[in-house]
Amino acid sequence: MSVFEDISAIFKGYWTTFSQMLEKPVTIQYPEQRREVRPRFRGRHVLKRYDNGLERCIGCALCAAACPSQAIFVEAAENTDEERYSPGERYARVYEINMSRCIFCGYCADACPTQAIVLEHDYELAFTDRRQMIFTKEMLLDPVPPGGQPTPQRTPGGVDLPAVPQAVVKRP
Ligand code: SF4
Ligand code: SF4
Repeated sequence: MSVFEDISAIFKGYWTTFSQMLEKPVTIQYPEQRREVRPRFRGRHVLKRYDNGLERCIGCALCAAACPSQAIFVEAAENTDEERYSPGERYARVYEINMSRCIFCGYCADACPTQAIVLEHDYELAFTDRRQMIFTKEMLLDPVPPGGQPTPQRTPGGVDLPAVPQAVVKRP
């Protein structure tokens, strides 16, 4: 390599450095500034409700079966007309996600027949204790929407509420 090429390489290096000094900084002053995530970003899970406040989750455990990390634990119980949490026969009495296992693949949301479990945009998942990484149903459940009722609800007897409530079937 000639002396000329050496000098040219040095100036090329300087130019790279100086050209970057003219660029706008890319640093985000988190947490004061937050960057919008992409629409399909998969963050912390949420358990959804219907507009009337009933829980979408019917305790079927398909999400737990689909989870490759075995991060979900579901224990179902029976609904009654006096104490109804969700449409259909059963609801999730216990629903837990171990966030230390979760790989945010979204398979649970894909497997859910009622679109109850959804991965939303919250990515602030920092913990100081492993026990804090177990998200319970109470932590995951969406608030009751305006005009809805909290669960459990009292529902009229003699009416079957399908698990996926497109229609209400009257018993004869
Ligand atoms: S996102 Fe994936 S790893 Fe996490 S709970 Fe759902 S299925 Fe399991
Ligand atoms: S979240 Fe969906 S798939 Fe999981 S138990 Fe509830 S209804 Fe079934």
